[in-house]
Amino acid sequence: MNFEVDKIRQDFPILHQQIYNRPLVYFDNAATTQRPKQVIDALNKTYTEYYGNIHRAAHFLADKATEAYEGTREKARNFINAETREQIIFTKGTTESINLAAFSFGEAFVQEGDEIIVSEMEHHSNIVPWQLMAARKGAKIVMLPIDNDGRLLIEMLEQLITKRTRLIAVAHVSNVLGTINPVKQIARIARNNGVRIFVDGAQAAPHLRIDVQDMDVDFYAFSAHKMYGPNGVGVLYGKTELLEQMPPYQGGGEMISEVKFSGTTYNELPYKFEAGTPNISGVIAFGAAIDYLRNTGIETVAAWEHELLSYATAALNQIPGLRIYGTQAEKSGVISFNVEGAHFFDLGTMLDKFGIAVRTGHHCADPLMDHFGIQGTVRASFAFYNTREEIDRFVDALKKVIAMF
Ligand code: PLP
Repeated sequence: MNFEVDKIRQDFPILHQQIYNRPLVYFDNAATTQRPKQVIDALNKTYTEYYGNIHRAAHFLADKATEAYEGTREKARNFINAETREQIIFTKGTTESINLAAFSFGEAFVQEGDEIIVSEMEHHSNIVPWQLMAARKGAKIVMLPIDNDGRLLIEMLEQLITKRTRLIAVAHVSNVLGTINPVKQIARIARNNGVRIFVDGAQAAPHLRIDVQDMDVDFYAFSAHKMYGPNGVGVLYGKTELLEQMPPYQGGGEMISEVKFSGTTYNELPYKFEAGTPNISGVIAFGAAIDYLRNTGIETVAAWEHELLSYATAALNQIPGLRIYGTQAEKSGVISFNVEGAHFFDLGTMLDKFGIAVRTGHHCADPLMDHFGIQGTVRASFAFYNTREEIDRFVDALKKVIAMF
């Protein structure tokens, strides 16, 4: 495909450096992506031109900051095709979005003896908040298993759903396997059974077109730092009828309507869920990241990353003793693997000496590691600024490292 990756790379200052005298190859994008200068400039501009505390302000700087902050809300709404801006709640990341949803949904809708279905391939961030809520409410967590290709056993879902099931929590894209889950289909099954669905979109929002209305999901969460934006910013999308019935997650400024010692009333959506001074500059700069992704074109991004995935998979499959985890067809640009006779941690540490940044370990997905009977993997994850030449360098370095064992 014809993609001007060199032009894109010019926008990312951090990529142009040597690590241990070798050109940096950054393949840790599933953990966090790098930022283009447009995002860095937006952050800089906020601090140098119009920083002030947002909402309820009577002065120019605060007004401008409020306008820019709320401008990002509209961009985020548009990015996932939510119906209204009230459905976009800013958090500090996917993890906080899930904690918010689990707490508040639990308070409003979960009773003792109820059940929450959570898939086996989830990141700990989409397991533990549900466990905490379940422990508080006397509810039960039920696991939806995967097969050995890393595919969710959707056909088991209807059997797992009971009269007590309240919600299904599932990742749109697995951070370990790269599996793209059929969220629309899962949402349909959930809806037909009167069950709600929460989707962890942390690994999908940077790589796929997201349409929450088309998928018809109840909740969707993602993080700016995995989408070329600042860290410390995330989004929780929720259906209005649910958000309205859910109590606040935290108390403090912004989320109130009126405070009296005799009782407090809460602000309207989305402010009911945004207590305290938020990450103002981060949210504003996130707007620049969304613009950047849109201007590049999410379909273009997806197509290029798919090419990189196919190219890297073919090359890695040539290496004797290398096993890739996550081999189903619908997959995003993540490759987790192990090599017989070599520990993943040693592989990662030695690749680093070749200037290649990968991640090693359990990737915050212990149940998934247990499924495959492993402690961890090496994970290479791609972004649209990566190139085939970088994959060549990575594969070449990996072969050299393996030869040392
Ligand atoms: N869910 C998935 C699938 C992830 O990959 C991650 C981060 O790696 C998270 C949730 C947590 O995201 P954050 O650390 O931005 O809150």
